[in-house]
Amino acid sequence: MSQEAVVGIDIGGTFTKIGLVDRSGKILLEDEVSTSRHATIDPFIEEIHQHLKQSTAKLDHEVKILGIGVGAPNGNYYSGTIEHAPNLAWKGIIPFVELMERQFRIPTVVTNDANAAALGEMLFGGAQGIENFIMITLGTGLGSGLVVNGDIVYGNDGFAGELGHVRAVDNGRQCGCGKRGCLETYVSATGIKRTIFELLAEEMEDSEFRRIPFTELMPSVITSMADKGDPIAIKAFEKTGALLGRNLADSVAHISPAKIFLFGGLAKAGKWIIEPTIKSMEENLLPIYRNKIQILPSALLYKNIAVLGAAALIWKQLDKEREG
Ligand SMILES: [Zn+2]
Repeated sequence: MSQEAVVGIDIGGTFTKIGLVDRSGKILLEDEVSTSRHATIDPFIEEIHQHLKQSTAKLDHEVKILGIGVGAPNGNYYSGTIEHAPNLAWKGIIPFVELMERQFRIPTVVTNDANAAALGEMLFGGAQGIENFIMITLGTGLGSGLVVNGDIVYGNDGFAGELGHVRAVDNGRQCGCGKRGCLETYVSATGIKRTIFELLAEEMEDSEFRRIPFTELMPSVITSMADKGDPIAIKAFEKTGALLGRNLADSVAHISPAKIFLFGGLAKAGKWIIEPTIKSMEENLLPIYRNKIQILPSALLYKNIAVLGAAALIWKQLDKEREG
């Protein structure tokens, strides 16, 4: 008998990651194609098709592919479209699911990458058996997936749960979306870098940061500086956590989650980011919510959550259909 699996695809601005994933979350094979090399969508889908055909042929046993899950920027679960994604070459509204199903002839589902990450946590990570939780992905920006009563909150138009673009600071930093003061301009890998440069301008303290160029300032560098006791690094994490915690307190008032998971380079900073976030969230919570919501690093922190999440999206759909 052949093994059952699904394909999880994570579309990023530069690369698209592809994985074949079984129901337990084991990645049977991983592959990658260029996103940015394709100015139009059709040759991109054709390349995914070719790659999958070649890589599955190399497996030592037969695999039956049941469906495809896709995490994409501005992926719309309802319409199956990718809509006006700012960092993709394909402009406008792309009927992605329709094009994929025409090529592969198996069910395909799309959502945004943060929702996919939340589903990955729910099926294969720390949120197994948890009906209400929030997933925060801290990369270049801040993505979020809200899960209520065991389901992703998609909202009326499919785009619910964009915590990265709630106003965290009045007349604050310019955001890529065109607004000012969005949470992700402070709480993200890019946001904390901006905070460090702000602190360096405000403070006189000597710090190794004064000798590191902006482009080389990765979250891992900031974490190791905090470990060494650098006051600017520690202050930057405190400021970042303070804003994240205050905004999470608002989200708690909206959906009352049991847990909040953090993913991404900044989440790997562990206590440096988590402790100030918890402190600030608790200070801003309505008393009925206090001391019962956990903030944790994702259980998939060192795994390919994007591919696992995209796979979880289609597994969840197939499970639902099987249950009838
Ligand atoms: Zn914004």
